[in-house]
Amino acid sequence: MELTNQYAEMGISNEVYEFGEKVLESLKDRFHELDQVAEYNQMKVIHAMQKNRVSAECFNQATGYGYDDVGRDTLEKVYAATFHAEDALVRPQITCGTHALALALMSNLRPGDELLSPVGKPYDTLEEVIGIRPSKGSLAEYGITYSQVDLLPDGTFDYDGIRKAINEKTKLVTIQRSKGYATRPTFSVKQIGELIHFIKEIKSDIICMVDNCYGEFVETIEPMDVGADMMVGSLIKNPGGGLAPIGGYIVGKKECIENAAYRLTSPGLGKEVGASLGVMRDFYQGFFLSPTVVNGALKGAIFAANIYERLGFSCVPNSTESRHDIIQAISFETPEGLIKFCEGIQAAAPVDSYVTPEPWDMPGYDSQVIMAAGAFIQGSSIELSADGPLRPPYAAYFQGGLTWYHAKLGILMSLQKLVDANLVKDLRLC
Ligand SMILES: *Cc1c(COP(=O)(O)O)cnc(C)c1O
Repeated sequence: MELTNQYAEMGISNEVYEFGEKVLESLKDRFHELDQVAEYNQMKVIHAMQKNRVSAECFNQATGYGYDDVGRDTLEKVYAATFHAEDALVRPQITCGTHALALALMSNLRPGDELLSPVGKPYDTLEEVIGIRPSKGSLAEYGITYSQVDLLPDGTFDYDGIRKAINEKTKLVTIQRSKGYATRPTFSVKQIGELIHFIKEIKSDIICMVDNCYGEFVETIEPMDVGADMMVGSLIKNPGGGLAPIGGYIVGKKECIENAAYRLTSPGLGKEVGASLGVMRDFYQGFFLSPTVVNGALKGAIFAANIYERLGFSCVPNSTESRHDIIQAISFETPEGLIKFCEGIQAAAPVDSYVTPEPWDMPGYDSQVIMAAGAFIQGSSIELSADGPLRPPYAAYFQGGLTWYHAKLGILMSLQKLVDANLVKDLRLC
C-alpha cells in the first residue's frame, strides 16, 4: 500500500512499520474508550462556551490597562464553567505553569504558614519556588515553612504520616497529579479526591491545591469535581491545545482566585486590569481543540508503552494501566538509549526536524536534561516532545502530539533510531 511507501520515504523501515501495525492491532478497544472520553470533554467545553455566550467580540485585541476586556473576562468564565469552579484566572501575564503555581502559592500563603506536600517531592521547578533548593524570592525567604510526606514504597499515600504532618500552621496542601520527573504513578482524580477528603477531615480549612499540569481532559472528571479548592496548570500544555502562545491558569474558590489576582497585578486592581493583547482567539480555539489534542497525545503514549514494553523496557504507566495524564516514561537504562529516543522524536517533527538534540544545563533543573521538540510554540509539551534528565534510570518522558498520526510517526522514528544503533532486540522475536 502507498502508506508504507510514504513511511519508507521518511526513513521508517518496513520491519519497524509492521511491528507498529501489529501493536496497534491490539489497541483497538482502548482507542475506542479514549474517543469516548474526548467526546464527553468536547461537549463539556462547547457547553461552557455556549452558556457564557462566547462571541466574535471576545477575539478583539485589548491593549493598555485592559478594563472591561470582554474576551478575557468571558474566557475566565468558560474555564470556571468547564472545570466546575467558582472563578478562574486565565492570562497571558501568567507566563507558564511554574508561574501559575508560584502565584497560587504566594498569594494564598502568609508568613508563618506552612505548606505541605503529601505526595513526595514536587516537580523540579517547584523546589526553587518553595525554597527546598535555596532561591531568591522563594516562599522560605518569606517565612513560609514547608513539610513533605513521601509516598509509601508501593506508591500509595502515607495516611499516618500525613496525619502527623498536619499541624496548626498547615495552611495549604499541594497535590501534584502528574508524576513529573519521577517514576511514581500519576494519581487518578478519584485518588486525589480520597486524599482531599482525608485531609479535610483532619483540618477542614486547609486549602487543597492540585497541580493539574498534563492532566486536563484525560478523564471525564477533574480535581475540582472531587473537592479541590484550587487547580492550576499551564497553557503551554493540555488546555492551550497547542495554539495558546503563552499562559497559565488557576481555577478555584472565589477567595483563592481573588488572592491570586491581587498578587498577579496589584492590591486594589486584581482581575480588573491586564489586557489580553490579541491572544484571545488562540486561547479560546486552543481550549476548544484541547479534548481532541489530548486524545491524540494519549493514543501516542499508549502506543509507545506497548511498543517499548514488548522490547523489554520498563514503562510507567505500563502498557495496560489506565491513564491519568499524557506522560509516558520509558526507562532506557543507558544514556545512549535515552539520547537515540529523543533524536527520533526530533527527526519526526514538522519544525526543526534537521537538528540533533543534546543534553544541556537547563535553569531550574538539578541535572542535565535532553529535550526533543520541533514545535510551533517554543517549548510546548502538548506538541510531540520528549525530555529526560541524564541520570539513572535514563527515563525519557514522552508526551504530546497535536495529532495522533504525528505521535505515531514520532514513536516509529524513535524505534528506528534505536534499531539502527543496535539498542533493541530483533523485532521479529517480539
Ligand atoms: C510542566 C509542569 C510544571 C511546570 O509547568 P511549566 O509550564 O513548564 O512551567 C509543573 N508541574 C508539573 C507536574 C508539570 O508537569
